[in-house]
Amino acid sequence: MAEKMIRTRFAPSPTGFMHIGNLRTALYSYLIAKANGGQFIVRIEDTDQVRLVEGATDVILKTLEMTGLDYDEGPGVGGPNGPYVQSERKDIYKKYAEELVEKGYAYYCFCSQERLQQLHEENEVGGYDRHCRDLPKEEIERHLQNGDPYVIRQRIPLEGVTSYYDEVFGEISMENKEMQDQILLKADGYPTYNFAHVVDDHLMGVTHVVRGSEYLTSTPKYVLLYDAFGWERPCYVHLPLLMGKDADGNVSKLSKRHGAVSFQDLVAMGYLPEAIVNYIALLGWCPKDNCEMFDLASLKQNFSIEGISKSPSVFDYQKLNWFNSEYIKQLSDEAFAEKVVPMLKEACPDYVDVKKLAGLLHTRVSTLNESVEMVDFVVNRLPLDPAAYTNKKNKTTPALCREILSEVTPVLEGVEDWTNDRIFETLKEYAAQKGVKAGAVMWAVRVAVARKSVTPGGATELMEVLGRAESMARIAQAIEELAAEA
Ligand code: GLU
Repeated sequence: MAEKMIRTRFAPSPTGFMHIGNLRTALYSYLIAKANGGQFIVRIEDTDQVRLVEGATDVILKTLEMTGLDYDEGPGVGGPNGPYVQSERKDIYKKYAEELVEKGYAYYCFCSQERLQQLHEENEVGGYDRHCRDLPKEEIERHLQNGDPYVIRQRIPLEGVTSYYDEVFGEISMENKEMQDQILLKADGYPTYNFAHVVDDHLMGVTHVVRGSEYLTSTPKYVLLYDAFGWERPCYVHLPLLMGKDADGNVSKLSKRHGAVSFQDLVAMGYLPEAIVNYIALLGWCPKDNCEMFDLASLKQNFSIEGISKSPSVFDYQKLNWFNSEYIKQLSDEAFAEKVVPMLKEACPDYVDVKKLAGLLHTRVSTLNESVEMVDFVVNRLPLDPAAYTNKKNKTTPALCREILSEVTPVLEGVEDWTNDRIFETLKEYAAQKGVKAGAVMWAVRVAVARKSVTPGGATELMEVLGRAESMARIAQAIEELAAEA
């Protein structure tokens, strides 16, 4: 018999931004399908109307688009198993819940909110006391005929153990008495997540359920539902926890206090979607060889469930920076300029040649936004400590630099074509004539022009970026300052 095609799904609840953990779930789910010639489905789980956040679905879909996780079925794309938004499927679930009532795997519960509230106050962890589990038939009929509000609850066996096999964590077992008679259908007619996702995964032909390990211990309840319906259970692939490093060296669940944790925030900070995808692919999955650089195409070829680890993964921002700088270096100069020139234009005075400036930054930044941070000295004339003129290697002192700067002023004024090459030639000739190292001249000029000693780009490149007027004005200012010091 031909093997069944793998079908996975990403089933986010639109309750806020796109957390890195959600994106990893989407990515792994996508890759498990695509590495095996399978299909990937997106389903929006919005039955908890109270927790909905406006715009969240758009953010989720936009993230999938930006990261290249295209789906075979889902919102916007459609497909034979739609609709793919649970609130639009509301009418589907009731009959399944009623089927379970008929078969004895679920029951009507007419308990009032007040009663449940009181139960909760008396025993916070006790949960529901199964009050309606064995109501006499006539009483149930009477309630229904009266139109009394009700929920439908799962009838969990009181004894025995429920087990299932997880592809990552192995055999998971739970005593049935540890489980609650959870609500399947709410009084407002909406199904709970617990129920809706099981029905939908079955109806949509999902073969592999891929999600975070926080669902490991609720899955026994879900497999009981599959069994009750007589449906084939899917394969379960629970992903390891994502942790962040705390200030005290310990780790805890990755959250905002560790840094940006949403895809959108990372992008806004200047991380490239490709770099984020590459990095999070490795947060819980270990490739067979030691290779670390994976674009989506190579992930699709190499990803395997066997490589998923069950130990928690720690999100390391420095490692992400490394990936990002590698991906930035791989961009063409044009592509890099296209991304940073708008930021540089906004930050820099008009006379700055921002395209040339982008060229100096390309191999030196680890995030796009760092470009702006790195050019503080272009944006403003920074306060300068004259000690910066002293450089052992080039044998410069403030006094020598002052002399050099005064002498090169008329020489530079004579440069017709204000380009890096021309300025460089001119300064080299001057150094040769004066009998000092070219390095000494470059040092003096760079410190004067940049007003700091560590800069992206050398003296003449910076002069080209700043333009003739600003460069000469900075040199004049430097001469004055040095004279005042002397
Ligand atoms: N809607 C659930 C969530 O966002 C999905 C969990 C699952 O994949 O089953 O956490």
